[in-house]
Amino acid sequence: MATYVTQFSEGNKDQKDLLGGKGANLAEMVNMGLPVPPGFTISTEACKAYLRTGEVPPTLRVEVTMALRKTEDTIGRHFGADEEPLLLSVRSGAKFSMPGMMETVLNVGLNDRSVQGLATFANDERFAWDSYRRLIQMFGKTVLGIEGDLFSEALDAIKAAAGTTQDTDLTADDHKKVVAAYKQIILEETGEEFPQDPRDQLDAAIEAVFNSWNTERARLYRRRERIADDLGTAVNVMAMVFGNLGEDSGTGVCFTRDPSTGHGGVYGDYLPNAQGEDVVAGIRNTFPLTKLEELDPTSYAELRAAMRRLETHYRDLCDIEFTIERGKLWMLQTRVGKRTPAAAFRVATQLVDERLITLDEALGRVSGQQLSQLLFPHFDAKSGISALTKGLGASPGAAVGEIVFDNASAIAHQKEGKKCILVRRETSPEDLPGMIASVGVLTARGGKTSHAAVVARGMGMCAVVGAEAMKISTSERTVQVGDTQLGEGDVIAIDGATGEVFVGAVPVVDSPVLTYISEGIDAAEQAVEGDIETLDLIRSVDRLLRYADGVRRLRVRANADTAEDAVRARARGAQGIGLCRTEHQFLGERRKFIESVILAETSEQRDAALEALVPLQRGDFEELLSAMDGLPTTIRLIDPPLHEFLPDLTEVSVQVALAERDGGADEHDKEILAAIQRTHEANPMLGLRGVRLGLKIPGLFALQIRAIAEATVALIEQGRKPKPEIMVPLIGSVRELQIIRDMAEKIIAEVAETSGVALSIPIGCMIELPRAALTSYRIAEEADFFSFGTNDLTQTTWGFSRDDVESGFFAEYLENGVLTISPFETLDALGVGQLVKIGVDGGRRTKPAIHAGVCGEHGGDPESIHFFHNVGLDYVSCSPFRVPIARLEAGRAAV
Ligand code: PEP
Ligand code: MG
Repeated sequence: MATYVTQFSEGNKDQKDLLGGKGANLAEMVNMGLPVPPGFTISTEACKAYLRTGEVPPTLRVEVTMALRKTEDTIGRHFGADEEPLLLSVRSGAKFSMPGMMETVLNVGLNDRSVQGLATFANDERFAWDSYRRLIQMFGKTVLGIEGDLFSEALDAIKAAAGTTQDTDLTADDHKKVVAAYKQIILEETGEEFPQDPRDQLDAAIEAVFNSWNTERARLYRRRERIADDLGTAVNVMAMVFGNLGEDSGTGVCFTRDPSTGHGGVYGDYLPNAQGEDVVAGIRNTFPLTKLEELDPTSYAELRAAMRRLETHYRDLCDIEFTIERGKLWMLQTRVGKRTPAAAFRVATQLVDERLITLDEALGRVSGQQLSQLLFPHFDAKSGISALTKGLGASPGAAVGEIVFDNASAIAHQKEGKKCILVRRETSPEDLPGMIASVGVLTARGGKTSHAAVVARGMGMCAVVGAEAMKISTSERTVQVGDTQLGEGDVIAIDGATGEVFVGAVPVVDSPVLTYISEGIDAAEQAVEGDIETLDLIRSVDRLLRYADGVRRLRVRANADTAEDAVRARARGAQGIGLCRTEHQFLGERRKFIESVILAETSEQRDAALEALVPLQRGDFEELLSAMDGLPTTIRLIDPPLHEFLPDLTEVSVQVALAERDGGADEHDKEILAAIQRTHEANPMLGLRGVRLGLKIPGLFALQIRAIAEATVALIEQGRKPKPEIMVPLIGSVRELQIIRDMAEKIIAEVAETSGVALSIPIGCMIELPRAALTSYRIAEEADFFSFGTNDLTQTTWGFSRDDVESGFFAEYLENGVLTISPFETLDALGVGQLVKIGVDGGRRTKPAIHAGVCGEHGGDPESIHFFHNVGLDYVSCSPFRVPIARLEAGRAAV
């Protein structure tokens, strides 16, 4: 009974874990009756077993033999036979697509004898020897790990001797020379002959694909895309079909809709007389797919029918790789295609209109991450700067940066905090580190399906490809377009939507989707003035966002400290303020007020200093509550350690010391120094802050509570509907909250009595310490609501200092896989999330209706929002910019 190998005809699209994405989809196409060359998939389990033990499982060899025989029977030819040989392609295929990151070996099965058989079968000696040399080259590089340049140099030498620079000019005899040279390279580099036994070739190729799961670039890609390291890759072994048998053959890539814009229609690249890798590698510039209609109308019609069937079957945009061998269409791969954020929104709503998917499903097809990318700025068309040249807009965005030509300079730029654009003739998987370090990528060659385009789209980075007018010299580090010559360090700007390339820093403007988000649909429609595509995009976003609003259970509030932020947040759909950090109201000019509170020597002095703050705070709260009229507004009592309001210890020490030397320091400066020394703490984030400060200097919280109550009264008297909520930070024990609550209730009652206005102001607390989460059932006795402060909760649960960790050892932690992403960015569901769950559950046990939300940074993070939905929080609160993203994700979490 086979355990590791599945014939294409036996699998299906839902087996991606086992067969990888490519294998599962090949199986599905076979099931649909589409023309797929026969073959089989070696499962990810085999890869995992290999990676675990370092050995190919013995039963795998037997299973491969059996599967191979079936493949031979289906196609009626024999693997590596001298006559009419069956050749195989051996391709990687993980669960999640990792374009170009792992290895492929083509033409497996060719040797000194079968190359003759292939020549006879194809009736083309040149083709047969070209295929053979390709095999040796790929095998040498991929399986034997020989430096690729050695092969390119040997090929160049033979081309030079033949008086040409084009591969296509080489004759069969030239290719025989290339084969001989390549074999010599292999012998010299490895001490062994190129293996003539087809089965040895196959086994080695399979092993090489397994190994390619763990290459440097594959690991880097997985980290970046957050793909788990232990999934392993499947290996697809398929009968070779040839796109390079002449002008009635060819190869191409197509999409069922435009993956850049979402536009319907025929979209793809076709390259006559070529093998698949030529298209993806972007080495030769391709024709648009419509050209195939002229060249081969029958295959074109068949392909179009297959595209339609696939799209109907998958109910989504599909991408397809195909080959035409002497007028016969073969489907080599399909999958649900990657797309730009704009295309994602447009395709999702198109499919709803076409009754192919429901609105619930449409919501699942877009993400907050994509929406955030749509909010990026683009170049100002009115800048009047004309483009230097134009390529294909392959991945949208507007990038401005210095030209770099290789990975090393890109990384050096990034380290210096300088933005750069990676400029290459074409990109290959080796360029991944440089792409990651750059803000954009620009290539001279390749279509929208080239490696650069696919990878950039996947990473959401701006890319322009195929700007053919550019002549790039990597050795001289120059790029020439007509008379203009640019070098490394020159600033360029690239527009990933239009494909335009500019010299200099072109000014950028806000995105139309951002206009829609912040000013509404009418303003946005006016702003785009009849640009149908953009209009369609805005309407798609609007439709899905409104749908998300209708289905989501989580409410979305904003973290806003000023009326201005509150207005912005409200325009973006915030349903209240989840966190107003009042300490932010004491920065700048007002810092001196807090300073005098700290410096006060007597309680009278301190009371006076505090009293002076009441009118200022009342004004702040009136503005804030008025901007949020009718919506809940959580105001957090002052939180940070006092030293944050005092100047830096070293600076003042030096200042005082110098002044003393020069005849005496200012008394005030000396007082400040003493105060800094007095309040100095070794671990201020674990020190006198939050409720501790409120208990140590009760007047501080009291003044804020009074200001909130008085501002509320003033607004009610104006006929407004203020809805303040008072939040106490850094609670660890119920008793802390009880003391503050008693005080707050007294103050509120006093204000109500004096003014004659009835006040009902909920009092709740942050849950941001593990102890608070663990004892939430007790804290709930004194709290009207909870707000999870996941920033501090992460800090205290992991014991990572939130202010230092990112510049400290995070890089190593990400590198060696302790972390896959910063826990300050995406909630650590397993650890910190567990405390959130304990916190909510405990609170609800005591008070089933207790209102609970989150106001840490995670409130705006897509993945974390799903977690908060699942643990039953009532709302998330995030920065005003992220409010629409949170609305969308909260909707997605609910469907
Ligand atoms: C938190 O700790 O998550 C929080 C929201 O408070 P702050 O970031 O102000 O400490
Ligand atoms: Mg906090």
